[in-house]
Amino acid sequence: MKIRQFLKTPCAIALTVGALLTGSLTLAQTTAPTAATAASSKVELQWLGQAAFRITSPGGKLIVIDPWITGGPKAPANYKADLAAVGKIDLLLVTHAHVDHLGDAPALAILNKTKLYGPADMVTPLITLGLIPADLGHRFNKTGHIKPFPGIKVTAVAAEHSSLLVWNNPATKKNESHPAGEAMGYIVELENGFKIWHMGDTGLFGDMKFISEHYKPDLVLIPIGGNFTMDPEDAAFALNTWIKPKMVIPMHYNSNPLTQGTLAGFQAAMKDSAIKIIPMTEGQTLSF
Ligand SMILES: [Zn+2]
Repeated sequence: MKIRQFLKTPCAIALTVGALLTGSLTLAQTTAPTAATAASSKVELQWLGQAAFRITSPGGKLIVIDPWITGGPKAPANYKADLAAVGKIDLLLVTHAHVDHLGDAPALAILNKTKLYGPADMVTPLITLGLIPADLGHRFNKTGHIKPFPGIKVTAVAAEHSSLLVWNNPATKKNESHPAGEAMGYIVELENGFKIWHMGDTGLFGDMKFISEHYKPDLVLIPIGGNFTMDPEDAAFALNTWIKPKMVIPMHYNSNPLTQGTLAGFQAAMKDSAIKIIPMTEGQTLSF
């Protein structure tokens, strides 16, 4: 079976990380995420819809990015029913304050007693408005990095987007809008050296080339929905002209009527590309 043909089918696959790094792929079926993946040497990645991902590192750390779950129309039902089902989160990352990214992050930070890492000027209002206690908010900013666990490094990188926090004030029962810094993306480097670039929400910007050349991501999670972000054609241009990763997973589509970019449109825009497209369905898990 031709690998590209296989990868274009929305089924569960597993790729060995060594193969990914050398370019030769080994594929196998995988199933639902397992809690007991400690020190498995694999990266397990589940798409929760929109820009939300649940990643288990090779060392067994559970990393959650942009968890829009209880309000997310495509988030797995078991997580929507009980946020504790997501698992004991070790590292919680948020790219910006829009509801489909901040989502359940404050609740998950409190539930797991784990820090919420995000743009400095988004975390500050979360604390000052009382959405999270001060000791659960970690402020950082673009090109800054954190090393929350041995072998894991997260670098904040630019995204061309905005960030406004809408908060329902319990005293007035009215929505309030609060400035919440600038949107970011993240380069997440795991214990085995595998690097994932979660681009967050972003339009096209020329420093995608700089980010790719400097941080060398293996896998890029790229928004394709349009309207708020790049659309399929923009994403294909960025990937083929500036980013040139080994693999790409499209995200931020299929959850909002205003984001009309589709997987099929993205595949069509990428039809002449050598970059491996790894399509996912919401709730699906891949092992790398
Ligand atoms: Zn946004």
